[in-house]
Amino acid sequence: MAMRIDGKAIAADIRREIAAEVTELKKKGITPGLAVILVGEDPASCTYVRNKTKACDEVGFYARQINMPADTTQEELLAQVEALNADPTIHGILCQLPLPRHLDDKAVIAAISPDKDVDAFHAQNVGHIMIGDHRFLPCTPAGVMELIHRAGVSVEGKHCVVIGRSNIVGKPMGMLLLHENGTVTICHSRTKDLAAVCRQADILVAAVGKAKFVTADMVKPGATVIDVGMNRDENGKLCGDVDFDAVEPLCEAITPVPGGVGPMTIAMLLKNTLTAAKGE
Ligand code: NAP
Repeated sequence: MAMRIDGKAIAADIRREIAAEVTELKKKGITPGLAVILVGEDPASCTYVRNKTKACDEVGFYARQINMPADTTQEELLAQVEALNADPTIHGILCQLPLPRHLDDKAVIAAISPDKDVDAFHAQNVGHIMIGDHRFLPCTPAGVMELIHRAGVSVEGKHCVVIGRSNIVGKPMGMLLLHENGTVTICHSRTKDLAAVCRQADILVAAVGKAKFVTADMVKPGATVIDVGMNRDENGKLCGDVDFDAVEPLCEAITPVPGGVGPMTIAMLLKNTLTAAKGE
């Protein structure tokens, strides 16, 4: 029987650790502040933003949600980012993606001060991650590493296969596993014989965005399987990229969806904001 890695419980532990640090920081007159910019009213984005500000409230952060209309211009959005860059009560800034199509997300990310870039999307922070000298780690891959650590799984010398090469998940995920001495293969839509590559994985991370994409024939018995996917199944129920029922019996350890990677992403956002507030 596979060990189910309980992301919900681990994230709750991390939030408690953060809340305790916030209590101490407040005694020194510092309240970590996070600003979240939401452009438009995409329902999924509204939910993500609400969850982030709620999590801030729970650990004692100051959270400021900035709602901008869907027809906001690039200039207006950049001016808002600049105002937050200059605001001493704000230690972390994030702009919820995706933005409406007429806005340039790369320019917005580049405008956020690297010191307040708690999503770790700014090219300067990406470069720091690449050379292993980071201040912030991107929230989802950092959350995956925490799950791996707290589940007692060692990465060193393991063959780690990541499915997906996005800038926010797949690529940095591969880099973090490499930093811990994993032997890393990053797969994508042009990978030949994906199932055979995945079957070599001691640690398999799925970040594809397709429901039940990873089937039992793609998993080596005894592997650790981390499911980053957040999809809806045919009944509209939240599910991951892994066919959980078929894959679980094969694994040493596996993350469920929901209750695996998802809660960790917000916990890592809080951790980055705390780091920024501490000026570390
Ligand atoms: P993305 O930007 O759409 O990237 C998907 C990746 O999967 C791409 O690199 C793509 O390859 C690859 N892919 C697609 N079809 C494939 C196939 N048939 N075989 C092999 N590779 C294939 O998605 P993302 O932003 O990385 O997110 C991935 C999933 O994680 C989504 O379900 C998303 O909702 C979820 N997510 C969850 C969290 C969380 O907090 N739990 C956070 C972020 C994302 P190409 O590059 O060749 O197109």
